[in-house]
Amino acid sequence: MLTNTRLVHGQHDHSRCIDAALSRAEDVCQKKNAKLTPTRATVLSILWQSHRPLGAYQVQDRLSKIMGKVIAPPTVYRAIEFLLRLGLIHRLPSLNAYIGCPFPNSEHSNLFMICNECGCVAEMADASLNTLLQTACEKTNFELHSQNVELFGVCPQCSTPTINEDISHV
Ligand SMILES: [Zn+2]
Ligand SMILES: [Zn+2]
Ligand SMILES: [Zn+2]
Repeated sequence: MLTNTRLVHGQHDHSRCIDAALSRAEDVCQKKNAKLTPTRATVLSILWQSHRPLGAYQVQDRLSKIMGKVIAPPTVYRAIEFLLRLGLIHRLPSLNAYIGCPFPNSEHSNLFMICNECGCVAEMADASLNTLLQTACEKTNFELHSQNVELFGVCPQCSTPTINEDISHV
């Protein structure tokens, strides 16, 4: 099983997540002979500013601020399409938003845990889940083209009572 839940659901130095994501992206681009242009790299880093997904308009807004000029939507969409194609980001259909992938180039289940409280999204890949879904499709002669499993709930950070609340009862 592959997951980034420990990071997403815990205190950590997030600048390391951003650095790691950008260096993974450079690796992936090199292997696939694709070019990580400054605009593409900036869009990727915008999507990695936190573990919460962003919609295309939010990306456009932040990109425009960084570039110091209004960036037209097609430029944003082209960069997003590029990152999606290389598996560096994912689209969450129910939220119509995008999130950076913590392990591109690995086997994927496209399983996302979305916190209803803070909006954080953790990703998970599990071979047994893929087998289960493939078997279900084979049994029903359903031709599987894509897979996306979105789980909505409350992350451990949001469900754990804060230390202050504990103390107030003493
Ligand atoms: Zn992080
Ligand atoms: Zn992924
Ligand atoms: Zn949460």
